[in-house]
Amino acid sequence: MKIVQNYSVLKYFVNILPILVILLFTALNATPSNCKTEIFKIDREFLSSNFSKCEVLEENSIRLYLSPEDNSVINPSPWFAFRKSAHKEAIYVELLYEKFEHRYHPKVSNDLINWKKIEMDNIKIEDNGKKVILTFKANSDYTYISAQEVLSSAWYETWYKIIRDIKNVTISELGSTSVGRSINKILIGNDLENPYILLIGRQHPPEITGAFALKAFIEQILDDNALSNDFLSNYNIISYPLVNPDGVDLGHWRHNLRKKDLNRDWGFFSQIETSIIYDDIRKILNDNKIVLMIDFHSTFENIFYIQDESEIAGYNFAQAWLLKNLSDKSNYKFAIKPTKNVNNGVAKNYFNSLYGIPAITFEVGDNTDRETIINSSKNLADSMMLVLLENK
Ligand SMILES: [Zn+2]
Repeated sequence: MKIVQNYSVLKYFVNILPILVILLFTALNATPSNCKTEIFKIDREFLSSNFSKCEVLEENSIRLYLSPEDNSVINPSPWFAFRKSAHKEAIYVELLYEKFEHRYHPKVSNDLINWKKIEMDNIKIEDNGKKVILTFKANSDYTYISAQEVLSSAWYETWYKIIRDIKNVTISELGSTSVGRSINKILIGNDLENPYILLIGRQHPPEITGAFALKAFIEQILDDNALSNDFLSNYNIISYPLVNPDGVDLGHWRHNLRKKDLNRDWGFFSQIETSIIYDDIRKILNDNKIVLMIDFHSTFENIFYIQDESEIAGYNFAQAWLLKNLSDKSNYKFAIKPTKNVNNGVAKNYFNSLYGIPAITFEVGDNTDRETIINSSKNLADSMMLVLLENK
């Protein structure tokens, strides 16, 4: 009888062993995505939010660990975005960059639309930028805090709804990523036989100043003035404004969900995002021509990467276009950097070497004034239209 009882106890433990192992494993790998004290809480309940884990330090203090989506991210674009609850007294949020350093000036918003920079008095940078302590006075609302303005897939959807009713604009879903996020195309044209300009955006998730520039650029082409109408009688635009929707909505620093830098995949097409887009481009290339490619990004300063003079193809267009903007009224200062083509999967290099067309990386500074980005991007769209019409 006793043996039978012991046997059933043993059997019980054997049965629950896998559950115990799972519980232990979960506890060891705990990465809580929200932290709560008696005073306030922090969570990631919105698109593009991200921190790798959080830890309660005191009732009025929470630490957020910041690290990239995978270990192969080498470019330090240390994104963070979180939401904090209301709190009746001052609280502290510590940003702890495990292997990287603070780069973006933190911004705050109540509605994910209007953002302002957190005042320097409330930001303490320590340990050579590896640790940043943010102080928040008592606040009666939920607030969003982020490295840069949050431009998630929802921001693009809102924009598409506004422009999709404009004459000659078609927005279509070409396919979706492995987890179902849409890859969309904006087509602008009234004669599909005309040559095409290709505009690409948001291969790299944190690069939102490039997204502001792309949006303003397209809006200027849709401005319905004499120049834009003349232009759209002669050229079409195709744009893939959000190449990496998974990375953007998950708050990644660089990669897509498959740990890949999409701007190292052109010509290789190992990823679903670049493959879907290239399949679409190929359909156009069967009958028509692409005459220009511009790829919008962000970095520390305003830079245009163009073809090297020794390679000629595309160099003259880029010079003519950008020289028209050197004394731009919007006061947008930029550098022009010719770079040689290498077969490294960068969109600029791929489109230039395969099609011999001007292919330009349009890099906007992280901290460039937002109004200036919009105004200068509209001027750059005007001058692109002028130069293309002059050389038609
Ligand atoms: Zn980039």
